[in-house]
Amino acid sequence: MRAIEFADLTLAIRTDRDPDDCVERLERTVATKSYFDHRGPGLEDLPGYGSAREWGLDLVNDLREYRAGRLPWDCVEKGLLLAGPPGVGKTQFARALAKSAQVALVATSVADWNASAYLSGTLAAIKKSFEHARRLAPCILFIDEIDGISNRETLGSDYREYWTQIVNLLLEMLSGIEDRPGVVVIAATNHPHHVDPAVKRAGRLDRTIEIELPDIETLALIFRFHLGPEALSDVDLMPAALVAAGKTGADVEAWVRRAKSRARRQRRDLIIDDLLTEIRSGRDVMPDVTRRACAVHEAGHLVVGHALDVFEAKTLAILDRGGATVLDISRANSQTESGIENYITALLGGRAAEEIILGRPGATAGSGIGEDCDFSRATQAAIDIELRFGFGAFGVVHFPKHATEFLPSDIAVTRLIRQRLDRCMERARRLITDNRDTVEAVAGRLEVTGYLGRAAIRELLTKHPMCK
Ligand code: ADP
Ligand code: ZN
Repeated sequence: MRAIEFADLTLAIRTDRDPDDCVERLERTVATKSYFDHRGPGLEDLPGYGSAREWGLDLVNDLREYRAGRLPWDCVEKGLLLAGPPGVGKTQFARALAKSAQVALVATSVADWNASAYLSGTLAAIKKSFEHARRLAPCILFIDEIDGISNRETLGSDYREYWTQIVNLLLEMLSGIEDRPGVVVIAATNHPHHVDPAVKRAGRLDRTIEIELPDIETLALIFRFHLGPEALSDVDLMPAALVAAGKTGADVEAWVRRAKSRARRQRRDLIIDDLLTEIRSGRDVMPDVTRRACAVHEAGHLVVGHALDVFEAKTLAILDRGGATVLDISRANSQTESGIENYITALLGGRAAEEIILGRPGATAGSGIGEDCDFSRATQAAIDIELRFGFGAFGVVHFPKHATEFLPSDIAVTRLIRQRLDRCMERARRLITDNRDTVEAVAGRLEVTGYLGRAAIRELLTKHPMCK
């Protein structure tokens, strides 16, 4: 009914018709106008979307100017290929953009086009979508799963003829600005590399914007968006966002919906644990000893890093999958030999804390697991000091790249690197021992909450002054 205007009412409802007839006419009017269904958020209301959002907001402006007759159609950005994994909100983007620009949205997909068993049916469906969009211009034509028009190069010869006709028609439709002034085409794909290059080159889809998985901060905003302003209104949503790392807006929407209905069923207000339970459901829970080791490890990084002024921690967290993170900002002193050694020492602070607080038998392998682990980063920095930065036993000899790759496996060179790492490890152990109370306090809090924000970290460090 939102689509109905006053004139539609006077056309449909007349005293010489019976009520059913009037209602039927109204329904028909609504059906033809559903492209203007502007429920849901506008683009400016949505969190995330990175550069796609900027592109969209610019387009909203351009369309306004175009409609006011102040901007020729040639100057409007008319096409975009939106790439990104399922659930990052590509469809929602097109809907929100149409709403913000106050134009119609014609949504279709290559799967819709292919629903016909015959080539002629598919070709007709493509034409129909574009004709429809042209009639509603200015409007947005959203084409989902554009990679369904596969790359011709990868098709077997049986299909090639078939696909060639489809691709050619699509190209014809996509090019030819004069034919469709006012139609902005947004195509979406989960697999940008499967899209036929010709489709990307043709006039309008020459621009690709990747929508990435939301980062932690954006996830927190998306949680807030779906919770609305009232639910959990003064609760920090970072703990939920951290546990949700790597997931999409669509996942967040589902978790919030389920958490809300859990609270409703139990006739109480929503609490953050409802959310955490939904996010964690079906995942393995970390055993208590591992959780304790993670907390001690992160506390070790924090204490050594702060004692040596290597970084300022924004967040300490224990994540679900055994991992624990420190989000930090490096400070400026990273170019000197002692600055780099401080950095190595902070990297080794995690293991040092485990050994000292938990005892050597309680220390975990975590510091050495993965390509980008503490030990590999510390070792690489020690190698750089020795072979590239001119601070080591080779003086300012600068080795070519291939030499810096094989030299570290020379036993004499390994010994030099090892000695430097040992010295840093010794220093890390000493700092942990000297600041044992602080490490214990931070680890204890982290173990309980799973998450320490900047304010909590600052508070702990003020309460437990450190010796450097
Ligand atoms: P895609 O088309 O990329 O698969 P959808 O547009 O269908 O994703 O997104 C599904 C749902 O996920 C949306 O209806 C929305 O509720 C939620 N969502 C995705 N991204 C966001 C975001 N950045 N902010 C808010 N909600 C989002
Ligand atoms: Zn670590």
